[in-house]
Amino acid sequence: MEKILSDLGLTEQDEHSGAGSGSWLTCTGAMLECVSPIDGRTVGTVRCADRDGYETVITRAVHAFEEWRMVPAPKRGDVVRQIGNALRDRKESLGTLVSLEMGKIRAEGAGEVQEMIDMADLAVGQSRMLYGKTMPSERPCHRLYEQWHPLGPVGVITAFNFPLAVWAWNAMIALIAGNTVIWKPSSKTPLCAIAAMEIIWEVLNKNGLPEGILNIVTGPHETIGNALVNDPRVPLISATGSVRMGRAVGQAVTARLGRTLLELGGNNGIIVTPSADLDVAVRAILFGAVGTAGQRCTSTRRLIIHKSIYRDLADSLIKAYGQVRIGNPLDETTLMGPLIDREAVDSMQSALQRLVEEGGEILFGGEVLSGGLFDTGTYVRPAICRAYAGTPVMMEETFAPVLYLIEYETIDEAIRYHNCVPQGLSSAIFTNDMREAELFLSHRGSDCGITNVNAGTSGAEIGGAFGGEKNTGGGREAGSDAWKAYMRRQTCTINWSGELPLAQGIQFDIDTADDSALVTGGHPLKQRP
Ligand code: NAD
Repeated sequence: MEKILSDLGLTEQDEHSGAGSGSWLTCTGAMLECVSPIDGRTVGTVRCADRDGYETVITRAVHAFEEWRMVPAPKRGDVVRQIGNALRDRKESLGTLVSLEMGKIRAEGAGEVQEMIDMADLAVGQSRMLYGKTMPSERPCHRLYEQWHPLGPVGVITAFNFPLAVWAWNAMIALIAGNTVIWKPSSKTPLCAIAAMEIIWEVLNKNGLPEGILNIVTGPHETIGNALVNDPRVPLISATGSVRMGRAVGQAVTARLGRTLLELGGNNGIIVTPSADLDVAVRAILFGAVGTAGQRCTSTRRLIIHKSIYRDLADSLIKAYGQVRIGNPLDETTLMGPLIDREAVDSMQSALQRLVEEGGEILFGGEVLSGGLFDTGTYVRPAICRAYAGTPVMMEETFAPVLYLIEYETIDEAIRYHNCVPQGLSSAIFTNDMREAELFLSHRGSDCGITNVNAGTSGAEIGGAFGGEKNTGGGREAGSDAWKAYMRRQTCTINWSGELPLAQGIQFDIDTADDSALVTGGHPLKQRP
């Protein structure tokens, strides 16, 4: 652990500042003790931002925006390219810190840093493709087009389960768009954020850029989170986390007519039909439900299985679950590490208890593990449960490895069961029947933001726009045209005619003889503003 921390310029003993803009500020806020869910050891301590620190950071972000927006977009892209390279150099140590602080297995920790690098690469290319459309004008000798301008300082609030990647989805694109970024990381994983800032600020400083382009403010949501969300100097808040958080943030930002990009909880289902390749399905379900110990927004939580294959699939899954190696996530052979904390374990236990009270049944696992490393109380055996369409506990996202199995008879019924939850993030169908696949992808099919055929619900690629519908919040991040959310669109008309023809054929001429305005060609109230 000492080596990993020192590689990243951190120490176990030092108290780290939780706020800065290119260099660290002296903070006097609350102290966060970063306890590893792996073994209960303290990985570091972080002093949260206070109100003055917050104000300093925002002021710097506002000033830096004025300079950064004037750097040509491809040059901004070049800085992001260098950030990607700096992350490449520290991939191993940063990925291991993700495992230490959050508890995901080493391969997934490294994968998270890889996702940051991939986002940097995507953003570099995007920096030359901030396209605006040109439309034919209805007026002669006029040009009509749209262009995209930087928005301002962007607030990015992140969840504990992807302590780095979620920031990168937002920040890399926000940067090439010409914005500055203020990051409020989860108080459960501030060290990852601090280590990333150290690496990235070095790149900005080497380029002679002003402080304030990439900023961090760590602290409780009641103070620091609230200040950011309610700050009119921050035109966009991108917030990732629970639906509860999204409702609070959404209401506050909307009240000041700011913009939000909300990436909230999922409750992701897979339909498995009689023609499915069950070997492929079992592997995808296992990764989706047990990977990251069920702590992904895209984790598979519900399986809707045709009754003719229900028994076979349930048996195969129980067998596969029995082989999952649970333990220290830094050990190469481990497939499932701990949950983030005991609170998460408690909420899993109460969900299982509720399931039984509501008529469901636990088919496998679910217990809290103990003995040796497991005495932290953060390790559980992943659970497979039998439930029924509409079982109340299944309508909620339990952020733990709980998989509910439901039986269906017709494909229409399966889609109805699939869509009956309030969340709408990721979805999948396993089938070799083209009609079923197309139905699921059609507007009568899945109501989610992400829909896959013969691929699981988790592990999205960055090339597509990522996000979900309904209670998942409607935001889109990462690839495709998600960059537009970080910019303001401007529609422009240029008249090079020497005349003044009006849109919609309106005549609005002054008769110099009687000095009165004549309006013809339509009622003036019907004119477009
Ligand atoms: P959380 O909602 O407890 O916290 C997320 C972040 O929001 C933290 O930084 C927290 O401090 C902050 N926050 C909470 N309430 C706030 C408020 N009122 N004002 C301002 N900030 C506030 O979530 P978590 O436990 O860290 O993460 C797990 C949740 O995140 C799950 O529901 C998961 O599905 C979701 N998630 C969604 C996505 C996605 O892209 N859709 C990705 C990752 C995680």
